[in-house]
Amino acid sequence: MSLLLRGGWIVTQNPRRELVRGDVLVEGGTIANIGQVRDSADRVIDCTDCAVLPGLINTHHHVANTLLRGVADDVPLEGMLEKAYAIDAKLTRRDVQMGALLGCIEMLKSGTTSFHDLFYWEDEVARGVREAGIRGFLSWVVLDEAFTTQRGSPLKNAEQFVKKHKGDDLVTPSVGLQGVYVCSEESYAGAKALAEREGVGLHTHLSETRGEVYNHRKKTGLRPVEWLDKIGFLCDRLVAAHAVWVTLNEVRALARHGVRVAHCPTSNMKLASGGVAPLPEMFEAGVTVSLGTDSPISNNGMDMFQEMKVCALLQKSSRWDASVAPAQRVLDLATIDAARALRVEDRLGSIETGKAADLAVLDLHRAHATPFNRENIIRHLVYACRGGDVRYGIVGGKVVVDEGSVTTVDEGAVVDRVQEIAAELYGVNA
Ligand SMILES: [Zn+2]
Repeated sequence: MSLLLRGGWIVTQNPRRELVRGDVLVEGGTIANIGQVRDSADRVIDCTDCAVLPGLINTHHHVANTLLRGVADDVPLEGMLEKAYAIDAKLTRRDVQMGALLGCIEMLKSGTTSFHDLFYWEDEVARGVREAGIRGFLSWVVLDEAFTTQRGSPLKNAEQFVKKHKGDDLVTPSVGLQGVYVCSEESYAGAKALAEREGVGLHTHLSETRGEVYNHRKKTGLRPVEWLDKIGFLCDRLVAAHAVWVTLNEVRALARHGVRVAHCPTSNMKLASGGVAPLPEMFEAGVTVSLGTDSPISNNGMDMFQEMKVCALLQKSSRWDASVAPAQRVLDLATIDAARALRVEDRLGSIETGKAADLAVLDLHRAHATPFNRENIIRHLVYACRGGDVRYGIVGGKVVVDEGSVTTVDEGAVVDRVQEIAAELYGVNA
């Protein structure tokens, strides 16, 4: 099956960041040609007045928490976790699968083609991923047995999950850790050893709130990044979500060890975590930074266009400098730098010949994107466009969003089912 995207504005995100007016030819799931393509294809999509982007990559998520959207608004992290844990304990495997599926639909419809998830029961999330046809980088969460509701040992569960799903086309398994507040040195060491043995990634929450840093320092004498450095956990397999409350020395430690950061500005702002992740210093030190929406409880959506805008605005506002976090740089965080964070930049994150055909086609012919031209398209993508402008979503050459609708699953049925599950879980009826 071949596919030709005809006559769009191609936001390549290649090393020269070229914006090309022309066509993208997809053959066998791979980008075969870019520019003025004379060939025809099994299917031709007219992309006039559309931007053709690399599919966006969300590097920190808890997708099954769509089930808990709206249960803990206007409270800080501790209050949110308390409410979430109480409902979480009642979830069944089937609930998790349906919640994940709903989130996958929401992501695909807003231009995201890959996401990085942290949860237990990632095997159920994996079912949702395959059904929806999105790419899932799924981290089974490990924490000390004293704190977990998982059956059996979280580390053994993670190992089984990784072994079962390794080598899959859509699902890339990895090892997660909840954070220093529920993970001992042994948990961190065990998770790292597992990731090294299996050749997979690591994913953790890190220095999200001032309270986390304060408590950890009280307990160990060290800040979380310093402590993880001391116990030998920091490495280039690691994606650390948040990294808000970090000192310049800690930023340098992250850079030295090649740790990648998933910045989650909306979640941090909504939970009033205070502080702002020091992106300019991270860029300066050479840390790979990417963007995550975090949980639907703390965001409450997963529109990466919104996340890009919030990211840019938060940095500008807090630094009193409009030139900080310019649009092109922020678009990088959601595309090529996110692919780097997940160590898949050879396959994803830009529109280049030979890469996987993970693409989003976005309608620019909208009131809120007018006028557009070659000069402002990149800035429009960050400041003016919305997930709802996505007309086509393509993962591995397969059209999974067609004229704005998901082709792989019955969206209406999933929405109805999640509405029912929520009513059963916490008694909210229409
Ligand atoms: Zn999180």
